[in-house]
Formats: sequence, structure tokens, C-alpha cells
Amino acid sequence: MPSPKNGDGTLAWLRDRNRQRVMEILRMHGQISQADISRATGLSRTTVSTLVAELKEAGLVADIDAKSAHARGGRPGVQLVLRNPAHVVVGIDFGHSHVAIAVADLGHNVLAERRYELDVNREAGRALDVAAGMFGEVLSEVAVERASVVGVGMGVPGPVDRGTGTAGSATILPGWVGLRIGAEMEHRLGIPVQIENDANLGALAEQTWGAGRDCSNFAYIKAATGIGAGIVIDGRLLRGASGTAGEIGHTTLDESGPLCYCGNRGCLETVASGPAIVQLVGPVNGENLTLAQIVERASGADLRCRRALADAGREIGVAVAGLCNLINPERVIVGGLMSRAGEVLLRPLRESIRRHAVQAAAETVDVRAAVFVERAELLGSVALALLGSREAARNSAPLAPARLLNRVN
Ligand SMILES: [Zn+2]
Repeated sequence: MPSPKNGDGTLAWLRDRNRQRVMEILRMHGQISQADISRATGLSRTTVSTLVAELKEAGLVADIDAKSAHARGGRPGVQLVLRNPAHVVVGIDFGHSHVAIAVADLGHNVLAERRYELDVNREAGRALDVAAGMFGEVLSEVAVERASVVGVGMGVPGPVDRGTGTAGSATILPGWVGLRIGAEMEHRLGIPVQIENDANLGALAEQTWGAGRDCSNFAYIKAATGIGAGIVIDGRLLRGASGTAGEIGHTTLDESGPLCYCGNRGCLETVASGPAIVQLVGPVNGENLTLAQIVERASGADLRCRRALADAGREIGVAVAGLCNLINPERVIVGGLMSRAGEVLLRPLRESIRRHAVQAAAETVDVRAAVFVERAELLGSVALALLGSREAARNSAPLAPARLLNRVN
């Protein structure tokens, strides 16, 4: 298990990046031998050989007839060419201040991705337009037609009502109130879009490729600016009646505590969210540290930052203990920026679960850090699109949009 500090700099991430480099070289050269790919990328021959084998298995790369390449004056030896993937999915992730997009094939290979910084909260229309533009860009980068896209998954940083396709909270995404997000995006892309909130996407990414792979009952806790949970029961995401399942950040810890932006008092977020931690640590040399800086310092020897994150871990643990009593998860996967503090956050969180959950639930639960941090929501939106395309292929017509079915068949 990679150290949480490395987060996205893990082997899987590196392999993705190397795979993309090999794809770029293939796109640039048209046809090329493994030895030349190794020279062009600076990757070892063994690495290139492994990557090429994976790409062949995914149907993205093929050998061409070495004899005919030789006869045409090409270099002797096997030449490789890129095959256009027949079907792809696209994941779009809206954060509070960025839009990210990734295109992946059905073999779960991310073929291209991009990210753009902008004020998503206030400029909903512009954010949707930017994402639609990026959608066209990534498809042309991988030379795939729009008609080959079999699913689009989209993440929003707040609760989402999947029934109406709207943002479920005016306080979290002020510029998105009343906007039918899924429909707006579908209108721009001409392709059905599935939407999901950020913590649920983190859970999907961990379930598909990360720390929840071998696990059918787990809770993913996103501990970042806000605190939310994605709950997987019997292998399925729990969404609730209106999409707010997992809003663990608004668990009441102190009935007469400070007012929360949600309108209640003493919520977990009033003491353990990013802004609460930033406020607790206070200014250093006249300026507030960011949450990222606090997490980094806590991983070092800064006692104040360590204490602030440890206390946040303890408070989060109280709410998670309640969750353990309710759903008896096999695992609790802690993600989000705070998870980069590793044991500084996790040890007091475990201790709180031991103190506050029923013994049997506390004893069975394994608390560990998530594999994905920065790309969790983006990868989750890809997973959502992959799941959707699989379901569409499996389900009968009334359950899936007809357009999607046609494309899958
Ligand atoms: Zn609240």
C-alpha cells in the first residue's frame, strides 16, 4: 500500500503517466518500434515492454506486419501502431475552483486529461462552457469521435439530487442554485451525463482502483475543506432519498456550539473542516497558512499543526463512530487533503472510534488512508461513466437511455 503522503504520486499514477507518454510518442510517430519508444521517452526497455503489453491487451496498440514494414524500407523488427479505441468514457470533475476532465477507454486506461482553474462556485454557466470546450479538446487529442463516447460521468462539490439533477444545497454552490446541471451539460455535449457528489466519487474511485477494491462494505471519508462521506453497502453507493446520504460533516457534536453555515449549531465542520483548522492554527508571520501548508507542516515537526490535525482526527472519529454503529463497515477509507497527514490524523481518529463505537463494530473496522487524493473525484467521475456504460450494456431498454444503448451495441 503506497504511503498516503505520496498520494497520487503512487506507482499507479506513474504508470498512467508513462502510458500516456508512450501513447503520445505513438501518436507523434504513427509507427515505431519498442526500442525507439524507449529512446524517445527515456523509459527503460522493460518498462516500455510492460506498458506496450498492457496497451495491446486494452486493444489500443497493435503490431504491424514486420515484413511489410521492412519491405517498405522501414527498420527491421516489430513496429507498433496506435489503434483508435472503439469506445471511450469521459469523466468531468468540477471542484470549487477548477474543472478537470479525463477520457478513458473501456479497459480503464486514462488516455488524456486536463485541468483548468476558474471560479466554479460563482460562474456556473462559464464553468459548464469551459468543460464542454475541454471535452472536445481531449477527444481530438486521443483522435476519438464524439460518437465513440459511451458515457459521461460528472462530479460536483456538493450534494446532488440525482432525481432532479440539481445541486442539493444553496449554501455550498451559490452560483448553481436551480440549475439542472446534468441536463445543462447534456445539452452542451449531446450525450447523456450522470452526476454525482465529490465524496461519492471518491468512494467510487477507491472501490474501482484504490483502497476499497476488495471490499463491499466501506465508508470513504473526504476530509478536506468540507467533510463528507461516500458510503458503499453491499458493493453499491448509498445515495438516500434526495442525495444527501453521507453528509457526515453536519453531524451535531455540540448542540450549543458555534453556528454552522448549514444553519445548525456545533456541526463536525465547525471544529474539523479546513477553514476551522486554518482558524485554529491562526496566522504565522501575520498570514494565515492554507490547509495544504498546515498538512505539510504537520507531516514535519510543527507541533501546532500536528495538534490541530490530530484534534480534527479525533472529532471526525466521533462522527465516524456513529457511522460504524449504523452500518458496521469493514473499512473506513480516509481521503481528501487532510489524509496526507497520515497517522497524525488517523491515529486519533481510530482512538475515537474505539472510544465511541460499540466494541464489535470498532474491532472489525480497518481505518486506512485513501490511495487517491488530488485526482480522486476525477477518477471517480471516470468510474461513474464506466459503471454507467456497463449498466447500459447490461440493462434492458427502459432502464437506459436509448442513445447510450445504441452506442454500446
Ligand atoms: Zn452544519
